[in-house]
Amino acid sequence: MTSATTHTTCPYCGVGCGVNAQVSAEGTLSVAGDADHPSNRGSLCSKGTALADTVGLSDRLLHPMIDGVRADWNTALDRVANGFAETIARHGPDAVAFYVSGQLLTEDYYIANKLMKGYIGSANIDTNSRLCMSSAVAGHKRALGEDAVPGCYADLETADLVVLVGSNMAWCHPVVYQRIVAAQQANPNKKLVVIDPRRTATADGADLHLPVAPGADVALFNGLLAHLAQAGFATELPGGAEAIAAAGQGGDIAAVADAAGVPAADLATFFEWFAATERTVTVFSQGVNQSSAGTDKVNAIINCHLLTERIGKPGACPFSITGQPNAMGGREVGGLASTLAAHMGFDRADTVQRFWDSPAIAGTPGLKAVELFEAIATGQIKAVWIMATNPLVSLPDADSARAALAQCPLVVVSDVMRHTDTADYANVLLPAAAWAEKSGTVTNSERMISRQRSFLPMPGQARADWQIICDVAARMGHGNAFAYDGPAAIFREHAGLTAFENTGERVLDLGGFAAISDADYDRLVPTRWPVPAREPLRAAGAMPARQNVDQLFIDGVYPTDDGRAHLVPVTPRGPTNDTTADYPLALNTGRIRDHWHTMTRTAKSERLAAHIPEPFVEIHPQDAAARAIVDGGLATIITAWGTATLRVIVTDRQRPGSLFAPMHWNDQFASSARIGAAANPAVCPISGEPEFKHTPAAIAPFAPAWHGFIYAARPLRLRAAAGIDWWTKVPGTRFVRHEIAGTATLEDIAAAARRWLGVAGRDVDWLEAADPATGTYRAAHVDAGHLEAAVFIAPEPARLPARRWLAGLFTGQPMAEAERAAVLAGRPPDESADTGPQVCSCFGVGRQTIRRAIENDGLDSVEAIGRALDAGTNCGSCKPEIAELLAEKT
Ligand code: SF4
Repeated sequence: MTSATTHTTCPYCGVGCGVNAQVSAEGTLSVAGDADHPSNRGSLCSKGTALADTVGLSDRLLHPMIDGVRADWNTALDRVANGFAETIARHGPDAVAFYVSGQLLTEDYYIANKLMKGYIGSANIDTNSRLCMSSAVAGHKRALGEDAVPGCYADLETADLVVLVGSNMAWCHPVVYQRIVAAQQANPNKKLVVIDPRRTATADGADLHLPVAPGADVALFNGLLAHLAQAGFATELPGGAEAIAAAGQGGDIAAVADAAGVPAADLATFFEWFAATERTVTVFSQGVNQSSAGTDKVNAIINCHLLTERIGKPGACPFSITGQPNAMGGREVGGLASTLAAHMGFDRADTVQRFWDSPAIAGTPGLKAVELFEAIATGQIKAVWIMATNPLVSLPDADSARAALAQCPLVVVSDVMRHTDTADYANVLLPAAAWAEKSGTVTNSERMISRQRSFLPMPGQARADWQIICDVAARMGHGNAFAYDGPAAIFREHAGLTAFENTGERVLDLGGFAAISDADYDRLVPTRWPVPAREPLRAAGAMPARQNVDQLFIDGVYPTDDGRAHLVPVTPRGPTNDTTADYPLALNTGRIRDHWHTMTRTAKSERLAAHIPEPFVEIHPQDAAARAIVDGGLATIITAWGTATLRVIVTDRQRPGSLFAPMHWNDQFASSARIGAAANPAVCPISGEPEFKHTPAAIAPFAPAWHGFIYAARPLRLRAAAGIDWWTKVPGTRFVRHEIAGTATLEDIAAAARRWLGVAGRDVDWLEAADPATGTYRAAHVDAGHLEAAVFIAPEPARLPARRWLAGLFTGQPMAEAERAAVLAGRPPDESADTGPQVCSCFGVGRQTIRRAIENDGLDSVEAIGRALDAGTNCGSCKPEIAELLAEKT
């Protein structure tokens, strides 16, 4: 027997998919896509499909801690409240700060913002969303007057031309990408253009890929603007003439192509398609936003849509897609230091203060993320509360941020996990509720407000974030203003503020929810804002959808002083820190398909961790050859800010002169892979968003004496293990795997192996084989037929056995005799049992299985492989990789 279905929302990316969750009588969770949710219509990607793997309590923070010691809630809350109050009393309100997160629910965010801006009286609250989409916010405000995404996902289906700029959507927003793919199959005339320096999985599926040079987006879109003007498009909008003049000569395609680093013929094709296609949507993401010219890049894109009037119409708009599940909700309540609340700026401080009836109000913008941590370093900020985020991994120049926290007098961290890179620096650790336990709302990238609903009880002493903040506010003397009986009450107040003294000048208007009952809040169906009070409430599915809400600005009226949209003149400029002779390569960081942020959740899923098990750097073959860097080896990235040592992937998917490394790995999962430590802290002067896509870097081979790996049924303490110079951890359900490398001699390894595997000095069933001639060493610890641990060492990575079969021996059952005999060989007795590295995370289908099916069964299409093996038939995220395997044969 299972519980009733809970309709909730995926906690990962900004697509905001609806999820149906059920818990069996035995406590087993199952999840499925919610067919009734308009954003995903029943689909989930590999991460969403694996949500049930991630709700376990391993390493969960279950009670407050002070200075590393368990504490009760009263003591911990007193310490936080007194610490903040004393700091404010002695140094003023700007001596404290909150650093919050797009993982928070809107209600949590609202309360944090209200406490900081209305009761402490400082605007020093910023969010990790600053790192991914604040350039879009600033660009929207400059052009449209408000941070409002004009369209919705259906526009991407309706459009005849979809342009993806700086977005690996196939991996980072897979469900929306699959909606585009399905629309393209239904409409063969629909075209997809990808503008990205990397040839990503998304670019593989495009009709045209423009591998724009890093940072050249403004040159490319200015060229398009000038071309459109020459083609006869004209505008009387403010800034139009200036923007076209600033764009220069679009007619000279060769010059624009040269500046943008793309083939002239391909650029001409793109310009022609854009000029000729009325229904065009340009989607932009972190590849545009994360730049010291991020806001200008956003406006260069929006300019082209304003000139062609491709906005405010079905299938036509610029479209910012966000990284996090509730980046939009945070923007709505004022989670950014640069806005006040409810899309109001500091010029409306009086309005907000009257609504809150608060004793104080922040009158000027606060410190943005990078500035905020710099202010901690200088001692200007003396108390900081970090909620639901891991800045010592995600910030640029993260080692400096770590040093700042280390000397900050009061660091409070609210989190779900006991151990994170940031939690290790907390004076006070507060246990927060996790996804399955939280209740509130989130807003996705298409302005859709959805409920997250709890379906598991909070474990240990965990509490909701909003509750924790209210408890601290009460101890700081603001109990009456923070006396909510649940998230519905907070949501009502938030909705009321959006409508307060809003006579239509602010698009964000949730006045229709200002009096929503608790019961209707519980039943709330996904609803796209605005929801003004004069419109019927769409709660409980009882009301028809409002007309004209999918596209904003249909009437051509914008929330600017003059009621019109504005083109913004922009000119190309290079990165703040450009490449040099010492740092000649441009390092780009970003996401991979199956991990989320700092891996605190996705690493709990064996199938997700198996897709790309190790932190890596991609490098073009020319750059690799010039430095004797080899595919599959290790290399160290060196920048002016830090280093990281990563597995090498040599690929022509990378532009010459550039590197790519994932943002996810951190000190919990690898010895040297926290790429944020090496990332460039330069920021966009308008948005404050860091330049993650362009860090000047050098790279050199990391050449250990040997490579190897360890499998163990139980966690090992490898961090300080003698003889291991580099390691990374690949979690499994019944095992942990470590890839390792070092400089110890083979004799030393033989002596150390028992220590590494945790059996030093014990009389155990120990299998061992060392071959000094080949430099290989293999050993295994077996207990009553169960494989407990094994280590494999070889001079080169290619001489190590495949991993997947060994992982399959950790079943909880004794090994068969043939398997025991084959353990040290590292190969299955039956070669066909080796499925190879995982490709399809949903169905656990490996590369070797797919290759054999192509080779032996003559399968010749992604669809045929799907029919035979199921691979690619759920979320579809692995289809590009399957297509690559098919291409190997041709
Ligand atoms: Fe979650 Fe995937 Fe949907 Fe994003 S696309 S919300 S990660 S299921």
